Amino acid sequence: MNARLNPLDDAALLRWPLPMPDPDGDKESRGHVLVVGGSPEMPGAAMLAATAALRAGAGKLSVATGESVAQLVAATLPESRVVALPETAAGGLAPEGAALLAPLARKLDAVLIGPGMQDEVAASAFVRAALSHLPALPLVLDACAMAVVRGEPLARPLLLTPHAGEMAHLTGVEKTALQADSLAAARSAAACWQAIVAFKGAITHIARPDGTAWRHEGGNIGLGVSGSGDVLAGVIVGLIARGASLEQAAAWGVALHARAGEALASRLGPLGYLAREIADEIPRRMALFC
Ligand code: AMP
Ligand code: MG
Repeated sequence: MNARLNPLDDAALLRWPLPMPDPDGDKESRGHVLVVGGSPEMPGAAMLAATAALRAGAGKLSVATGESVAQLVAATLPESRVVALPETAAGGLAPEGAALLAPLARKLDAVLIGPGMQDEVAASAFVRAALSHLPALPLVLDACAMAVVRGEPLARPLLLTPHAGEMAHLTGVEKTALQADSLAAARSAAACWQAIVAFKGAITHIARPDGTAWRHEGGNIGLGVSGSGDVLAGVIVGLIARGASLEQAAAWGVALHARAGEALASRLGPLGYLAREIADEIPRRMALFC
């Protein structure tokens, strides 16, 4: 076996326990997550990710989303503070709106940008602008916000969560070629982007820039459904806010997401459970390890 490729199984998780909160601690002690995303066509993706961050145990939640959907998000997610951001004509987030995140920066512990964002060009520009207002915070990128890696490297702790279609789009390599050796694809992307990369699929590989990798096999076909990846990204950023490293949060997030899918499949059937139900199942799966 390649010593730098580790199976992501029960034994690995038990050897690598999540940071546990002080039982007397308050919500501040379990971290404040910012989810940036949503758009007129996909406001729900940001809501799913945000809900999942709380389901993973984060203490506080802010959501920054386009002004046309901010009221809807606020009404649907009463647990969240909502920041309304200006939009581009194509429904993306306008880069100049990133300055509105600055007052939050000092209070945050982890940031996710991407779920439900439209307009890839605006998304890249928005991410770059946001970074100057969110110094040094660990960052998870998903969906079209990942396009930013095509430019200058981002000098900060970074995690990306592409599926095969997104990886093909970002790298210019055929999807089937990537899937034929997804470990190599994850490692190469991690080295190139200087980021942790969770390359998602029926088998998910998580790679570090130095080539060290995890292989996760589990979950089931029902996880391939709208909103599922948004939930995964939300669980991961929630775990980072609680104090996990990017790599640990990716590993635990992938495993918990898969186990939630397995539990739902046995309760409801292999197909037809919903992304929001995956999020709701996370606390039970997590409790089995703590
Ligand atoms: P996304 O395509 O971004 O919504 O993400 C889908 C999520 O579901 C990823 O975490 C995948 O790893 C997972 N997934 C999709 N299909 C399967 C499958 N057949 N078996 C296990 N996990 C899957
Ligand atoms: Mg996705």
